[in-house]
Amino acid sequence: MCADTPDTLPKFAVETSVLSKTYPAERGGPVVEALKSVSLTIPRGSFFGLLGPNGAGKSTLINILAGLVQKTSGEARIWNFNIERQMRQARRAIGVVPQEPNIDPFFTPRELLDLQAGLYGMPKAERRSDEVLQAVGLSEKAHAYARSLSGGMRRRLLVAKAMVHSPQVLVLDEPSAGVDVDLRRQLWTHVRDMNRRGTTVLLTTHYLEEAETLCDTIAIINHGRLIACDPTERLLARIDSKQMTVTLDADLSTLPTNLHSFNAELRGLRHVVFSYAPSRINSGQILAAIDAAGLCIADLTTREAELEDIFLRLTKKTDLEAG
Ligand code: ADP
Ligand code: MG
Repeated sequence: MCADTPDTLPKFAVETSVLSKTYPAERGGPVVEALKSVSLTIPRGSFFGLLGPNGAGKSTLINILAGLVQKTSGEARIWNFNIERQMRQARRAIGVVPQEPNIDPFFTPRELLDLQAGLYGMPKAERRSDEVLQAVGLSEKAHAYARSLSGGMRRRLLVAKAMVHSPQVLVLDEPSAGVDVDLRRQLWTHVRDMNRRGTTVLLTTHYLEEAETLCDTIAIINHGRLIACDPTERLLARIDSKQMTVTLDADLSTLPTNLHSFNAELRGLRHVVFSYAPSRINSGQILAAIDAAGLCIADLTTREAELEDIFLRLTKKTDLEAG
C-alpha cells in the first residue's frame, strides 16, 4: 500500500489567495505594485502555464513561492503547506528553475546536485544525483567544472538542480528565453515526461504559442493582475477571435440587420469590421451574409488575435460570448 493514497493528496499543488507584492520605491521612483490580489489554484498533476508580457509579475509570483521574495500580503500554499508557517515543507515540495542562470562556476554538476540535495536534508542513500544528471543528458559532464559547460548544458543543470530533491511541483521561469530549438525540444520532452509521471509543472512564458502547445491550463497575468485562468481549450475558445475587414464598392449609411449577429461594425462609409470566433463562425458564412444583404466587396483583409488583443479582450468587461 502506498503511503500517499489518492485521497490524502491535495487537490491543488499550489494555491494563492489575494497575494500581493509591492516593491518599495527605489531612488525616489514610485513603488511598484508587481502583484495585485492574485488568487490562483493550480490543480495537482497539471501542466500549468502562467502567461503574461514582460513585467507582468510572473517572476515575482514564482519567487514568492520559492521563498526568494517576500510577499506584501495574502497567502500562498504549496502542496497544502503554507509558505510562511510551514516554510520547510513548502520549500521541499517545490523546485524552481530560475529565469536568470546563476551557477557557481567552481562546482562540478555532481557536486552541485549533492549540495542541493543536502540542503533539502535528503539522506545520502536517497540522493538521485546520477539519475537526474542522466535524465538531463549531463552524465558525461558530471565531474567537469560548471564554468566549462555550454549555455545549454547550464540550463539543463539548472533543471537538474530543481529536480534533485524530487519536488512535487516543478517550476520553470521563462525556460525558452535564449535556448535553442534543439535544447528546447529536449527540455520539453523531459518535462512532459515528468508531468506524465505525476509532477505538477508550472511554466511561465510570454509566448502564447508555447503555453498553448504545452499547458493543459493557462492563467494570464497582466500588470500584476490575474485576468484569466481556464483550461487551455476553454481559454482559446474565449480568445478565439479573428477580425475581417471588408471594403465595399459603394457607400453605406447603416449596417444591414442581418450582419448584426456577426459583431459587425461600420467604420467610415465603406469599411465593415467583423469580429468573430473562428471556432463557431467561418468566413464563408460572413461572406454569404454580405452577399445576402446585397452588398459587393471591393477588398478584404483578415487578422488573427495577437497577445495584446487578447489582453485587451480579456480585460474588457464586454461579454462577447453573449453577442
Ligand atoms: P515578469 O517576470 O512577468 O517579467 P516581474 O515579476 O519580473 O515580471 O516584474 C514585475 C514588476 O516588478 C516589474 O515592473 C518589475 O520592474 C518590478 N520588479 C521586479 N523585481 C523587482 C525588484 N527587486 N525591485 C523593484 N521592482 C521590481
Ligand atoms: Mg520574469
